[in-house]
Amino acid sequence: MNAPVPVPHRVPTLVTSFVGGRELAGGNERLPVIYPATGERVSELAQADAAEVDAAVTAARRAFRSSGWATLSTEKRQEMLLRLHDAVLAHADELAYLECLNLGVVLRELRERHMRRAAYNFRFFAEVIGQARGDVYDQTAGYRSLVVREPVGVAALIAPWNAPTALASMKVAAAIAFGNTCVLKPSEQTPLALRRFVEILHEAGLPDGVVNLVNGHGAVTGDALVAHSEVDLVSFTGGTATGRRIMARAGERLVPCTLELGGKSANIVFASADLDRALDAALVGIYSNNGQQCLAGSRILLERSIADDFIARFAERAARIRVGDPMRDDTELGPLASAAHRDRVLSFVETATGEGARLLTGGRAASGLGAALDGGFFVEPTAVLATSNEARVCQEEIFGPFASFLVFDTYDQGIEMANGTRFGLVAYVWSDHLPTVERASRDLRAGVVWVNTPMVRELRAPFGGYKESGVGREGGEACMQFYTEVKTVTTPA
Ligand code: NAD
Repeated sequence: MNAPVPVPHRVPTLVTSFVGGRELAGGNERLPVIYPATGERVSELAQADAAEVDAAVTAARRAFRSSGWATLSTEKRQEMLLRLHDAVLAHADELAYLECLNLGVVLRELRERHMRRAAYNFRFFAEVIGQARGDVYDQTAGYRSLVVREPVGVAALIAPWNAPTALASMKVAAAIAFGNTCVLKPSEQTPLALRRFVEILHEAGLPDGVVNLVNGHGAVTGDALVAHSEVDLVSFTGGTATGRRIMARAGERLVPCTLELGGKSANIVFASADLDRALDAALVGIYSNNGQQCLAGSRILLERSIADDFIARFAERAARIRVGDPMRDDTELGPLASAAHRDRVLSFVETATGEGARLLTGGRAASGLGAALDGGFFVEPTAVLATSNEARVCQEEIFGPFASFLVFDTYDQGIEMANGTRFGLVAYVWSDHLPTVERASRDLRAGVVWVNTPMVRELRAPFGGYKESGVGREGGEACMQFYTEVKTVTTPA
């Protein structure tokens, strides 16, 4: 028996921006907000133009200077962060519903994972600021230097569509925990839950202007935000091409930025691995979140002696994944986020076979899911066996439920394949042979290496990518470095 579909929550007809504690209707440009499971238009977004972005940054600057947020005692700021945690958690069902309605990720996953994480981010940073300390250097010449940290100012926070609230809440919580104010720009595809999220923070008592939100296209609203002269730092998560543009923009004004970018991460399975565990993790890695995640182990590299068996079991399990209505608790894979994205993901099937790959399972738009879902952007769980790591399906981020398998013969060959892309976000390695995993965790060029471990994020540890997967890191200590200025004050001892 399935759990009942939750009672729908209020969906705004117009998704506005939110500036200085109030909604701002936006310019004349309107963008559609689509439910990917049906293709229906569920709302409309009012795009913020440069004038509204200016209003948002000005509100953030004013709040930084005079709301008292930047100078609040650690205890008071912690109290507020814990209130924000409770408020987000109390609204987890509503936020998950709104997120599902423009993202299409399974509601259960959104409620139980994304929104819990969104709430937890506030508690996490409340704890981090409680542990922050400074340094003292005593000098023999009769002087003493204190090293103190201060908030930087106004942060521009730019978020992608694949996990909107879970990712953006981390940026918001980190920025404000260290005393900054911010302007958040969600993806134009997924504004619904974040718009409500910001309202909920204010209902919980967050002072006006500390968190502002502007909605609109990256090239319009996002660009105006990054270019604004009163923005002091930029935190971006999204595609590598966009990251490059944003860093160039920020560089013009010498504004620090962190970039969390794309991936084409390797999942290496040696013959010495616990294959059942490796198989479970490989399936979760590539097909959870509807296959749209930067952490996906999207290249699965198998040692030859276990390859046939592993692939057969993987394909059999993948074909049994329940594709369908993301609002149902028994669905495992919902639709892709947009029609254009579905078409792009499917185009890689032809690319793969054209390059000599063998289609192992899936490869088509998923159909027969019921009349109500006929207009949805569903794709079957798909996997191909590529002939070379140089193939486009092994080099380009597909960002869908699409696994590319490769086979290797020696340790060196496996590691060379794993490192053989322009990305370096994460890597998974499976082997019960200790010297192999020790060596692999040293040799892999990735910001996170999971050894015999499925995808888990340790928030205290730095997270971010090597090579074109990013610049800078997020995490407890890493966020403290990024969201604070450090000052040395020297006084007579
Ligand atoms: P995207 O780069 O298209 O957009 C990300 C955000 O940037 C959106 O809000 C967009 O409106 C904005 N934007 C676009 N152009 C801009 C510009 N010129 N100036 C300012 N803002 C601009 O990425 P996406 O399609 O939303 O997200 C998918 C990508 O994000 C994938 O590559 C994925 O790997 C990556 N991602 C990385 C991580 C990570 O932690 N490394 C996490 C999630 C997603």
